[in-house]
Amino acid sequence: MKNATVKGYGIYLEVVEQDSKKVIQCNQCGTVLCGADDNWQAHAITIKSDLVGFMDKVCGVEVAPPVGEPKLLMRRLYCPSCQVCFETEAIEAS
Ligand SMILES: [Zn+2]
Repeated sequence: MKNATVKGYGIYLEVVEQDSKKVIQCNQCGTVLCGADDNWQAHAITIKSDLVGFMDKVCGVEVAPPVGEPKLLMRRLYCPSCQVCFETEAIEAS
């Protein structure tokens, strides 16, 4: 089977066949996260940070917190072995 990139989840994840089963693995270090039908995000390292604070601190951009809207967090998902960043997204704080 030819390796297939997991659609919608960046360039560092791929579906490969291992012991006759399809699994999702990091293509940078080869770590298998889970079965192809499982939620790979549950097996990644997750770091959440304040999105407004990130924009100000890292990007040097002053952003006013949204008024009357849900607080947003930046969620990053990393490989548990090599720490490559699989995905970054903005989510609502719960
Ligand atoms: Zn990795």
